[in-house]
Amino acid sequence: MTARQIQFGFNNSYRRLPDRFHARLPPEPVADPRLVALNRPLAEVLGLDVEAIELNAAMLFSGNALPTDAEPLAAAYAGHQFGHFVPQLGDGRAILIGELIGRDGQRRDIQLKGSGQTPFSRRGDGRAALGPVLREYLVSEAMHALGVPTTRSLAVVTTGEPVYREDVLPGAVLTRVAASHVRVGTFQYFAVRSDRAGVQLLADYVIRRHYPEVEDAERPTLALLAAVAERQAALVARWMGVGFIHGVMNTDNMAISGETIDYGPCAFMDAYDPATVFSAIDQGGRYAYANQPGIAQWNLARFAETLLPLIDPDGETAMALATEAVEGFADRFERHWLAVMRAKIGLATAEPDDRALVLDLLKAMHAGSADFTLAFRRLCDWAADDEAREPVRQIFAGTAGLDAWEPRWRARLAREGRPARAIAAAMRLSNPAIIPRNHRVEQALAAAVQHGDLMPFEALFQALQDPYSDDHAAAYAAPPLPSERVCRTFCGT
Ligand code: AMP
Ligand code: MG
Repeated sequence: MTARQIQFGFNNSYRRLPDRFHARLPPEPVADPRLVALNRPLAEVLGLDVEAIELNAAMLFSGNALPTDAEPLAAAYAGHQFGHFVPQLGDGRAILIGELIGRDGQRRDIQLKGSGQTPFSRRGDGRAALGPVLREYLVSEAMHALGVPTTRSLAVVTTGEPVYREDVLPGAVLTRVAASHVRVGTFQYFAVRSDRAGVQLLADYVIRRHYPEVEDAERPTLALLAAVAERQAALVARWMGVGFIHGVMNTDNMAISGETIDYGPCAFMDAYDPATVFSAIDQGGRYAYANQPGIAQWNLARFAETLLPLIDPDGETAMALATEAVEGFADRFERHWLAVMRAKIGLATAEPDDRALVLDLLKAMHAGSADFTLAFRRLCDWAADDEAREPVRQIFAGTAGLDAWEPRWRARLAREGRPARAIAAAMRLSNPAIIPRNHRVEQALAAAVQHGDLMPFEALFQALQDPYSDDHAAAYAAPPLPSERVCRTFCGT
């Protein structure tokens, strides 16, 4: 079978929305497409013919020869970028080629990113560089393996064309797979145009696609807002639990589905510090680690604003209901965060003082500049074995806080009424041994981009498929040496 005969079995719905939702156009062909990575397990889940796809992957995933049933489009959206509203953003370098219902019954978008200019490109070239594309492929799949809701990555293809950023870089296209690409910014696009019918169509669409359970609510739009708040609260709590910093939580990068989307300058924290920021463009620290729940709520408020006329014809009533829903995010987040953090310290039951217990550990970690991932992972061993104290203490620059905390933790664990070994085993499923540490990611990308050597990338990728096991800990668990530390990341757009 040649690429020109392949069908993906698309089943498209976004394309059926009115013309003002999107621009219909194909990707721009590239000079010399070559396959760099193909996610076979994901292709299986999607129900694709993996053998046929493998043979034609470079052509298919560059967009040079789309599946015959593709109906390509670029979606319109707006967004607040670092707090400033931009009424028109849109897919400036991405093309949705279609939607698939996978083997698991889930509908997913298949999107090529870096696929050339569209009517939404503004001044951009529509292209992506290999480094950021590999970064998204690696980190999104690592997040999935960690159990965090996320868009996924199906393939990476190099284009054989240069892209011009600060340097001249090899171009690449990422195939991104998402529950959908509807963003808070998609709602804003119609709201700012006073296109009430558009907002209504979009709300109906996302209810059908992502939140069918709210359809029969007394006020479906209000129930949608609450349901999105719930998923965002769960999502950001998971980020906090693995030390993930998204880096660009603009409203156009917040997916209504509740998946992590848009891996630009994202990074994982090494030493625990709530003020950690990596992104070079985030100079005010708007999207710092500890600010993420507050920003999610701010984005949710922007979402709520677009829905007001749909919530109630009376402006005051609509505002009161929406405000209550947005304010409810705080409690939702708190509940999810506490569940995540309780599990991390070995608690399956709840007591009123658990929050303070968690916060005091974090305080000790901050004071001791302890590595976030390593500290929690070593705590797992310590839960079962008093002798495992020193390996934990070693990673704290000062242990006064930790030493004071331990007896409280021990007393609390005793009230769990479970064998220490069972507690430790459960903790190991909530505290990864390895994460995509920034210095490792940068090393792998540098080898790939500068020397065409994909070995470090592939080895790191494989290890990250199993982050809760110790199998790859010897190679990848260590925090960076001071000389290895990477403190700045770039979105590379
Ligand atoms: P991002 O920062 O990746 O969330 O992108 C924000 C907006 O800029 C989106 O509308 C993108 O489609 C657009 N964009 C980013 N990079 C490019 C590029 N190289 N060419 C065209 N549009 C781009
Ligand atoms: Mg984006």
